[in-house]
Amino acid sequence: MAKELPYSLAQMREIIKEFPTPFHIYDEAAIRARVRALRAAFAWNAGFKEYFAVKALPNPAILDILRQEGCGMDCSSYTELMLAKAVGSVGKEIMFSSNNTPAEEFRLASRLEAIINLDDISHIPFLAENGGIPKTICLRYNPGGDFKIGGAIMGNPGDAKYGMTRPQIFEAVEELRRLGAEKFGLHAFLASNMLEKDYYATLAGELFALARDLHEKSGAEIAFVNLSGGIGIPYRPDDAEPDLAHIGSGVRGKYEAAFGPAGMRPAIFTELGRYITGPAGSLVTTAVHEKRIYKHYIGVDACAANLMRPAMYGAYHHITVLGKEDAPQTELYDVTGALCENNDKFAVDRPLPPIEKGDLVCLHDTGAHGFSMGYNYNGKLRSKELLLKPNGTVALIRREETPTDYFATLRGFGFALEQ
Ligand SMILES: *Cc1c(COP(=O)(O)O)cnc(C)c1O
Repeated sequence: MAKELPYSLAQMREIIKEFPTPFHIYDEAAIRARVRALRAAFAWNAGFKEYFAVKALPNPAILDILRQEGCGMDCSSYTELMLAKAVGSVGKEIMFSSNNTPAEEFRLASRLEAIINLDDISHIPFLAENGGIPKTICLRYNPGGDFKIGGAIMGNPGDAKYGMTRPQIFEAVEELRRLGAEKFGLHAFLASNMLEKDYYATLAGELFALARDLHEKSGAEIAFVNLSGGIGIPYRPDDAEPDLAHIGSGVRGKYEAAFGPAGMRPAIFTELGRYITGPAGSLVTTAVHEKRIYKHYIGVDACAANLMRPAMYGAYHHITVLGKEDAPQTELYDVTGALCENNDKFAVDRPLPPIEKGDLVCLHDTGAHGFSMGYNYNGKLRSKELLLKPNGTVALIRREETPTDYFATLRGFGFALEQ
């Protein structure tokens, strides 16, 4: 299947007159459509709510769109909480799913009356001292061992730093009730970027069974089950788009099986990041160099500091050379950035049409865990971010960094006066 971009070469030539490359550009209409599709798939659950994983795309212009679409915000740090507050999400509109949590972050989450998702049993006394135990609280579960679907290993929770063991969940509920908590949620995140169509249903089955056991054995009210993130996206042209109707009805089947028609009716929450915004973003770069040594290289004006996934995980990001969508892919390129790191390659041995200097080279699916994983190695600066609106206009939603930003935290040597 061909992978499409929401702009043509002619449109992009207009955009870059005002906003030179490199930049990430996000498609508002696509983001809205993806949230609506998710909500439709879970419309059978009265309390369903998506808490967008802010770390995936922490730009308030995007968070505001998501808030308008009915999403809450899933935060895991002080600044992510500040972003949620900035777009007007407070109270039950915020899920605070952190780990190894600093005291001031629990205090801010408490002040905002966010739903706190406790990562560990030792955080109970810590939270009691730093913000206090709220009436409604969520617990993060780690089942240990391997996470399997139909015999195939999908993840390795036994090796993951997150969550509590089953006995700890039971103990935590007792302790939290003693300290005044009344309603509980359960959360687990067992595998990432899952295209396996039964991931959510399998995870939901485990959490629903735990919810029922907890309720039966302790009498605790389980108000919601948080299925967290993890639904994947088709990065490769031959990957299939997740079938949300199948996912929603799979979770529904597990729900009915666990709770029956007359049983408890917990709300279902999700914390998707990648699924919501991943395919709605792309990184637009310009080819600036061509090099032929033992391999054939195209150098572009972005680097791993703008999109780390290929360097970090060997992740595939599809590439379209704008205007050459239908040209024969007669060349085999490594597409590189300028970092002094040989893993700074957006693609290795990628068949592409012949690229000339000045061509616009677009990397697909950078709308989640793209810009936000950026860094400043080699003194490289982060790019701007643009929003493509449904009416076709483009807004600058973050400017690029300048050397002044890079030097802003230095003291002395003429960079900034001691403060
Ligand atoms: C990263 C993360 C998410 C979002 O994951 P995606 O793969 O983007 O769906 C949700 N919840 C928690 C706790 C996370 O750490």
